[in-house]
Amino acid sequence: MKVLADVHVHNFLSNCGRDNTSTAANYVKRYAELGIKILGFANHIWDDRVPGASSWYHKQTLDFSMQIKPMIPKDTLGVKVLVGAETEYCGMSKTLGMSAEGAKELDFLLIPHSHVHMVNFVMEDPAPYAEARLWLKAQLMQINGMTEEQAESWVAPLREPLLRPFLQRPFEDWPAYLADFLVESFDSLMDHPELHKILQATPVSIAHPFQPVGYWQHTEALLGLISDETFARLFKKAADLGVGLEINTHCNNPAMLRMLTIAKDQGCKFTFGSDTHSISGAENIFNVQPAVDALGLTEDDLMDFIK
Ligand SMILES: [Zn+2]
Ligand SMILES: [Zn+2]
Repeated sequence: MKVLADVHVHNFLSNCGRDNTSTAANYVKRYAELGIKILGFANHIWDDRVPGASSWYHKQTLDFSMQIKPMIPKDTLGVKVLVGAETEYCGMSKTLGMSAEGAKELDFLLIPHSHVHMVNFVMEDPAPYAEARLWLKAQLMQINGMTEEQAESWVAPLREPLLRPFLQRPFEDWPAYLADFLVESFDSLMDHPELHKILQATPVSIAHPFQPVGYWQHTEALLGLISDETFARLFKKAADLGVGLEINTHCNNPAMLRMLTIAKDQGCKFTFGSDTHSISGAENIFNVQPAVDALGLTEDDLMDFIK
């Protein structure tokens, strides 16, 4: 089966957009050239009906991101254009950044449970890192004369490897820490009552499942720590709910393929995403093909909205 859909595309309206030419019209043109049939915009959104947005998400409301709709050209050159979103799931507080009411405005919704680079928002620091943060804050107040607020805002966004020199005791067990967090956050997301409401009207796929954003170097090791039984249990839950999993450009390796094979065996459906933030990255969607071939996927394995 050929990959003919990309439903994880960010444009210039995203905070992390890196390309001012990444307009809806330019994407449509580029995907038409590439022969891609379905293009799904999925900018980062925190629905302002839900309290608790981080400062990074503050501006990225539904209204702001839906400005893309009138920017989509009338003639889409044979490409079906969908407007969805990539919201947030903060596993540490079990907070989902999208309401069922808000999701009704979307053709589809991607939910990541693995934006672990958003420290102390999505995932809590391991204890030695939390201690290092406190230690550094105290130093900045004492030695540099910062106020508590200044020191806090300086220290809060730091993460590995920047915090590492300030550790007062060693911490090497990232794979196990990440594995435990990702299992728990996937599990609690599947049980989330708002997700169940969203699913009544809007299809949902999990963006980059079990891929720890910002900690990519630990992916293979952490996947190796999660048993077949655990994956089977989690993916059965997803399959029963009709929640899909995203296959992306990082999936063509034995560790990810093992995980995705278990998902397929449990009846999960899939979506494809390049996660591109620029027009030049659009062709990355073709890097999804080897994993699709290795898994032997057919149309039946796809979520309906990407068929
Ligand atoms: Zn993401
Ligand atoms: Zn993304």
